Amino acid sequence: MAEYRLQDLAERFTPARVRARRERSLWRFAEVLPVERLEDAVSMGEGMTPLVGVRGRGPLAVFRRLFVKDESFNPTGSFKARGMSAAITRAKALGTRTVVLPSAGNAGGAAASYAARAGMDCFVFMPEDTPTSNVVEATVAGACVVLVKGLINDCGKLVRQAVERFGWFDLSTLKEPFRVEGKKTMGYELAFDFAEPGENGRLALPDVIFYPTGGGTGLIGMWKAFDEMQQLGWIDARRPRMVAVQAENCAPIVRAYQLGQSHAEVFPNASTVASGLRVPAAIGDFLMLHAIRASQGTALAISDRDLMAGTTEMSQALGNFVCPEAGAVWWAARRLAEEGWITPGERIVLFNTGTGLKYGHLFPTGNLTVLDPAKGDGFERWAHEVAACHSSKA
Ligand SMILES: *Cc1c(COP(=O)(O)O)cnc(C)c1O
Repeated sequence: MAEYRLQDLAERFTPARVRARRERSLWRFAEVLPVERLEDAVSMGEGMTPLVGVRGRGPLAVFRRLFVKDESFNPTGSFKARGMSAAITRAKALGTRTVVLPSAGNAGGAAASYAARAGMDCFVFMPEDTPTSNVVEATVAGACVVLVKGLINDCGKLVRQAVERFGWFDLSTLKEPFRVEGKKTMGYELAFDFAEPGENGRLALPDVIFYPTGGGTGLIGMWKAFDEMQQLGWIDARRPRMVAVQAENCAPIVRAYQLGQSHAEVFPNASTVASGLRVPAAIGDFLMLHAIRASQGTALAISDRDLMAGTTEMSQALGNFVCPEAGAVWWAARRLAEEGWITPGERIVLFNTGTGLKYGHLFPTGNLTVLDPAKGDGFERWAHEVAACHSSKA
């Protein structure tokens, strides 16, 4: 992983300096990112996402300090932008012409967009059943997309062959060290989000972080950010409890956590509608398991049915259409509130890692009323039905 001379930086890289910066992107933390000069960053304003207070439902209704870090505000609609901004910046500095990666969802679109911006060619291997919105996003950005009958790890094998044959730059999760660097800025931002009030308020971290875990880049990145901030003297040794949330039918990390293992085995027949969580084997498994245990966190799996219910409930509570991966996190928080593992006074952060708008295929609109005013079938008929619609919400 990337390392910085934090001791040397501590004097000039301070929270007050960062606060005073004009840069409205994650590149305000440039000292701890892979860039020499800020002008060289391949950036579209990623990061600096809002931390939004929400009112919970059910067992979460009594929670007073429940927050959503809303990553759907990122370019390309997900936090994959953070990682790709850093990775493509570094690839460009190294003189890379072509990048390649496997993706089952948001990573492909983000890589394609940042590559386009940097003037690079981009190849994306995607499972055949990847949602159209993700495929289209990458192709419109100019990437060459290849569909594969298989899962993300099958795509990964093809990527490795392409890298060997053509010498392209491999953007696979944790194959290059810079996507983690981009995503770790979520940890830095949270420390500013929770700082004591006032211009120079001391930085602080929440008590619990719920993270929808696939390859684990974000979890591993935030954990690294906390260590760096401690070395910089910005925070003390306390850490949020890290909660890894996965889907019931693709939960390698949850299973390894429960079995007390330090590495995870490949999860057989992995499937979930939350495409960001469809990662049956993650090479950073041991790093995630370490962060979960060292923080006295936990790991739990949510069924597709519950995570879809969570998606709707969370979208309404937040007022923004969240991704199903976030729905899993919401439902996990509900469950841990029921069990008393989290308590109402604690500061709790739930990650919405991307926009729900790319997942329209999961939300059939059902039996909507259709009116045909031209045929006299208009307001009066609907007016009869409106009462029923009102009462269904009460
Ligand atoms: C990729 C992705 C995840 C998983 O993130 P990792 O850091 O790789 O574990 C979660 N949610 C969404 C929307 C994603 O695109």
